[in-house]
Amino acid sequence: MDFKLTPQQEERRKEFYKVCGELYAKKPECFVGGEGKLNDDESWEYHRYCAREFGKRGWLTFGWPAEYGGQGDMMDKVLFSEAVGYYGLPGVDEFGVAMLAPTLLAAASEEVKREFLPGIASGDVMWCELWSEPNAGSDLAALTTTAIKKGDEFIVNGQKTWNTAAHRADWAFGVYRSDPQAPKHKNLTFMLCDMKTPGITVKGFPYMNGLHIYNEVYLDDVHIPANQIVGKEGEGWAVVNVLAGFERSNMGLVYGLLSGVEQLVKYCNETKRNGKPLSQDPIIRNRIADLAIGLEAVRTLAMHIADMQSRHEMGLMDAAAVKVFSSELMEKMAQISTDLLGVHGQVKHSRFAKMGGTWEESYQSCFVPIISMGTNEIQRNIIAWYGLGLPRMK
Ligand SMILES: Cc1cc2nc3c(=O)[nH]c(=O)nc-3n(C[C@H](O)[C@H](O)[C@H](O)COP(=O)(O)OP(=O)(O)OC[C@H]3O[C@@H](n4cnc5c(N)ncnc54)[C@H](O)[C@@H]3O)c2cc1C
Repeated sequence: MDFKLTPQQEERRKEFYKVCGELYAKKPECFVGGEGKLNDDESWEYHRYCAREFGKRGWLTFGWPAEYGGQGDMMDKVLFSEAVGYYGLPGVDEFGVAMLAPTLLAAASEEVKREFLPGIASGDVMWCELWSEPNAGSDLAALTTTAIKKGDEFIVNGQKTWNTAAHRADWAFGVYRSDPQAPKHKNLTFMLCDMKTPGITVKGFPYMNGLHIYNEVYLDDVHIPANQIVGKEGEGWAVVNVLAGFERSNMGLVYGLLSGVEQLVKYCNETKRNGKPLSQDPIIRNRIADLAIGLEAVRTLAMHIADMQSRHEMGLMDAAAVKVFSSELMEKMAQISTDLLGVHGQVKHSRFAKMGGTWEESYQSCFVPIISMGTNEIQRNIIAWYGLGLPRMK
């Protein structure tokens, strides 16, 4: 693969950075970045505004076939994600744009594609994921929420948990047990559901940083039309695996580290400790260099994944490897930066906070990608079994 950008790609890159810089200038003060867009109305409106700005330029459909409104290629997607990440912007709905859209393109009927892709492309419709349950996380196929077919509808009953964005999203994609008699992995159906459907109750619970991001969702006799299933009835497990690949290989969040390293370098150049700039401390230099190397590896991985996705060749192991590498790099970055800042790293709304207090926030949320999307222990199992052919543990 040739890593050098063509003159056209350089131009596109400049355009992405320019528009993202303009949107960044409109950022409300309350928006703390990342999933903080889900916490308060103003941050959420900013997210929707950025999404529509991207949507009207066609930037949410890179790599889609032209017949569904797609434009550009996967390299555009990589360069665009980098610009969004650099400015820490919201506006790209990870559930709709990064996960559901490519899954629909790969697995949905023509009718479902025609109905649901336009709202994702324009940035008007936001999504959430209803998969995990109190007793089904790593072992997702053990889920017990039922969807029983009655005429041309499914009637859904049960409880989901840890549902990011469920209190904000317009629609949800979920997986339910549609044939309680059939064996595990052969009894699940993947469905799309309007979050305003009667019988859905969303209860939020605060994360340890105090923000409202995650929820429990209760489904009591929720009627879902049968034409809203993706794939075939009883074959939802295959659709889950397709979507999980896109979820784990989504590198949107990790691009936020690009500007993070820049900020840390500036801070170390400008800050003295014991009369010497931090940037002259060999241990600090070493740790920051380590982060910069990780980021270069992430950039290369992103291009590799985009290349594989465009050829429909991304395997289970590739997605798992990206997920482990990028989530652990984010954790490492949060730990090194709070370490570097010392006591200043532990405050955000304070005159003692450094760099806007963002590192305290990133420290508290750096555990999220390690656990969500399937824990890193499970991803390492996937790499061992499916990628390396090591024996499966009983
Ligand atoms: C912040 C956050 C956001 C999330 N967002 C969503 C969302 O939007 N939608 C959604 O549906 N779900 C979401 N989840 C749920 C997430 O997918 C699950 O938490 C995750 O899959 C782990 O499941 P669990 O919590 O039940 O842990 P468990 O499965 O109970 O695992 C507990 C521990 O045991 C380990 N373990 C379990 N089985 C094995 C094994 N076979 N081999 C080795 N180790 C094992 C795990 O690695 C983990 O360390 C979110 C979770 C978090 C924390």
